[in-house]
Amino acid sequence: MAAMDTPMYAQVAIEQVPGRLFTYAVPEGAEVRVGQSVTVPWRRVYHRGYVIALSAECPYVPKAAPEAQGDLFGEAPAPRIKAIERVEDPLPYFSEGTIRLLRWMAEYYDVGFTLALRSALPAPVREGRSQARERYVVAPVLPPPPHLPPLSKRQKALYEDIVRVDGGLLARLCEEFSTTAPTIRRLAKMGYLTCERKEAPRSPLAGRRVLPSQPLPLTASQAEALGVILREERPVLLFGVTGSGKTEVYMQAIAATLEEGRGAIVLVPEISLTPQTVSRFAARFGGQVALLHSALSDGERHDEWHRIRRGQARVVVGPRSAVFAPVRRLGLIIVDEEHDTGYKQDESPRYSARDVAVMRAHIEHARCVLGSATPSLESWRNATELGKYALARMPDRVGGAELPSVTLIDLREAGKPGEPSPIFSEPLIDALKGCLARGEQAILFLNRRGYAPTYQCAACGEPITCEHCAAKLTYHAKDDTLRCHLCGRWRRPPAKCPTCGAPLFRPLGVGTQRVEQALGKILPQARVIRMDADSTGRRHSHDELLSAFRAKEADILLGTQMIAKGLDFPNVTLVGILSADRSLNIAYDFRAAERTFQLIAQVSGRAGRGVLPGQVFVQTFQPEHPAIRAACACDYERFAADELALRRAQGLPPFSRLACLTLTGPDPAALERAAGEAARALARTPGLETLPPMPAPLERKDDLWRWQLLIKAPSSLRIARACHALRPPDARTEGPVKALLDIDAVFLA
Ligand code: ADP
Ligand code: ZN
Repeated sequence: MAAMDTPMYAQVAIEQVPGRLFTYAVPEGAEVRVGQSVTVPWRRVYHRGYVIALSAECPYVPKAAPEAQGDLFGEAPAPRIKAIERVEDPLPYFSEGTIRLLRWMAEYYDVGFTLALRSALPAPVREGRSQARERYVVAPVLPPPPHLPPLSKRQKALYEDIVRVDGGLLARLCEEFSTTAPTIRRLAKMGYLTCERKEAPRSPLAGRRVLPSQPLPLTASQAEALGVILREERPVLLFGVTGSGKTEVYMQAIAATLEEGRGAIVLVPEISLTPQTVSRFAARFGGQVALLHSALSDGERHDEWHRIRRGQARVVVGPRSAVFAPVRRLGLIIVDEEHDTGYKQDESPRYSARDVAVMRAHIEHARCVLGSATPSLESWRNATELGKYALARMPDRVGGAELPSVTLIDLREAGKPGEPSPIFSEPLIDALKGCLARGEQAILFLNRRGYAPTYQCAACGEPITCEHCAAKLTYHAKDDTLRCHLCGRWRRPPAKCPTCGAPLFRPLGVGTQRVEQALGKILPQARVIRMDADSTGRRHSHDELLSAFRAKEADILLGTQMIAKGLDFPNVTLVGILSADRSLNIAYDFRAAERTFQLIAQVSGRAGRGVLPGQVFVQTFQPEHPAIRAACACDYERFAADELALRRAQGLPPFSRLACLTLTGPDPAALERAAGEAARALARTPGLETLPPMPAPLERKDDLWRWQLLIKAPSSLRIARACHALRPPDARTEGPVKALLDIDAVFLA
């Protein structure tokens, strides 16, 4: 944007009216700036909008067609540009850099600009519904005045606790010290505390007891990695094994950034946003830390976001959407566990927060760190063969702790001949018994929730499928239901087979609930916590279950991929992967081997994090598979070399870009026709390779049929432009056949 003395016109994005930008006049004397939130009239109603650009000339050229003018100018024949009604806040919501980022996003992912902008604002901020709220704030009276009535032993303990944390929100203290508001109020009435209604920003960290931490003296490889990060202009891939101390490096890089007067963003996978992760940052940076997380209340998200915008919080920790946080003078973005698929948004705009982070850092001249023990092959190639990223390695665990020893167990030989293979092999059972006998803890991993994956007729072998999706139903023993994991519908198991009428059913296969039951038989005295989508429904239960395990209230943590990431339990010495094959056998996903490698490496990384050595057992039907072998040898580089050679030979990412155009509709024949037409049109674009249209692996979901077109090209932008020409984003959801474009697709179902 060129400097202007008097901008006269503003381009405004109106959230409720996506599809294009609107031109408004800047009222005389008003100070309008790019990125501000404004109120504008549109069709006789006031709307909230955001100033995207300013200019001295009117950018709007009225067209001849009267209907093109109707929206903007009402019925007036001559252009009469309406004025901005008011500026909501002089301090902008978006920096010019963020607006450039959103423009890039809109083009790269081929979505409307206003939709891209929407994704950059948390819902409570967009709706502006949460005004700052009043809350009860408790503070100790220090020193306590003389002649106060004496305290009982319990009251004294509580009072001392409150003094120690220096008071805080009443509700938070009740939670923290397991007490009630009347108990604390009584102390206030006695004169030991004050308890007043105040306007308090709803900070999720407020009142949390955090011991301050000091920077640790770095190991040689940590110091070297930090040096690379601070020196490099390119993004840095921090390739460090689990337990190598990446977080300490992140924190010292943040400290250096704050010293320069700049701010930082730390992205973590949603699932590892545990109090444990958050408090490590809070302990180092105190009140400067803001947390953005979908599990926060609306009020908390609203207040945290504005705290960042006003520069009161300069370190942001959050999941993928935090990549848009309005940090002022951004100096550093960290993407922890950069390979995690959770960084890809699975609704429009289908952005990858990792790639957006790299782009944002580039635009704002900030440092960028991508950390992982098992980098995505895209990032690995960028950091090695292509040199687009710098590479920093941390090959050893801090303090010299050994990586765990990994034992492969061939499930084909584990059971008795003629019988189905057991859930637990003998060596794993023995190891579990030994582990518990020593008072240590174990983690068991199975990537399948529920009791049994399929519920099959014992006579004809037909599974029961969902009536609305092309998916088998999963049996849940606990409430005796058959559930569809795609649409969430459930039903009671039928009395007779709908296909052959036989009355016999048997659950087939193994889910976490069935493992839990089996554990009860093998190790009746073991205390087990099960963690999966079924056991973690409530807002805090995820945290609660992990805290309970950490506090050694259980011996075994059993779960799905939820437990694979970023958790650090020093007392865990045994990890069992009950079936390594599940993720390997997804035929349509060319990244199946990569995912399996990551999974085994990440889950095994949970063992032996403390002073105790770790042991890992991997049960599999395919012990010779290269991905499983490399994972068990903890040899990422060998895996990457082998897998990259395969991808190169097949012309798959990262050697090409792949997008997925999914068409959905109620009529399969119309859908097939539309898919064929789209494929023919795309085939005319040079440089694009479009695979023949196919029904999607997930052929039907929620009563809609699905077809898929996979598109390969040397650049994603080329695919986005071709699809834009075919059907611009706003037209994609019109008509009976809807289209979804997924650039750099990750989930190919
Ligand atoms: P990663 O994130 O790479 O898996 P962490 O950052 O969790 O590893 O570090 C593993 C453990 O080592 C943590 O308990 C951490 O406090 C400790 N640690 C990290 N750096 C150092 C250091 N320089 N000196 C001593 N202990 C360290
Ligand atoms: Zn369903």
